[in-house]
Amino acid sequence: MNMMAPPMMDAERTMQFLFALRSKGVTDKRVLEAMEKIDRGLFVRGHFAGRAYEDLPLPIACGQTISQPGIVGLMTQALDVQPRDKVLEVGTGSGYQAAILSQLARRVYTIDRHRRLVHEAREVFEALDLTNVTTIVGDGSFGLPDQAPFDRIVVTAAAEDPPGPLLAQLRTGGIMVVPVGQSDTVQSLIKVTKTESGLEYEELAPVRFVPLVEGLGQD
Ligand code: SAH
Repeated sequence: MNMMAPPMMDAERTMQFLFALRSKGVTDKRVLEAMEKIDRGLFVRGHFAGRAYEDLPLPIACGQTISQPGIVGLMTQALDVQPRDKVLEVGTGSGYQAAILSQLARRVYTIDRHRRLVHEAREVFEALDLTNVTTIVGDGSFGLPDQAPFDRIVVTAAAEDPPGPLLAQLRTGGIMVVPVGQSDTVQSLIKVTKTESGLEYEELAPVRFVPLVEGLGQD
């Protein structure tokens, strides 16, 4: 066997991967189908590529991490994405979460402060022919005012509070999922629903994400 060949999601790996997701509480059929279709192995480069099918967060470039599949599944499920939805993701990272969202939404905008991560993710989106994903290099804590309002917003880096500009760019009836808390302590994954009468908050799970950082990255 050529040890340099990228790992592939063969039938047995797929079964184990889906089993692990279900045991973490990911039961939404459309989410499971999207996660079956999008091969996580394509989003993990280098040393850790062989571990892409384990339910673990893994290091990616720029000192960042690709989230654990179980958490990606729970976040996607909580977002309850509809086929006509316009979705914003803050924190492209590897591009894995955005690729899954692309299977469920009409259009996905994904923004990261690291140019290198955005370029690498874009290469994978092109290889997979995911034409409904738009990538942007920038500080996502201010959202994307030009494209607002969004039906769904997912933030994949932890903020002390849900960022105000993002809440403002969520349409009424919309849902935002965001990890909240300080970077080195326990964070909570929060679901915010914007209703006619205000914001409703629901705590979903304890999580640990890299912090949401202001400004552009060095690379
Ligand atoms: N969703 C990713 C995981 C993201 S890790 C995946 O599926 O792989 C968190 C990402 O948030 C990192 O890539 C980091 O660069 C990015 N990030 C942190 N602060 C940010 C900000 N203010 N604006 C945009 N991206 C930010």
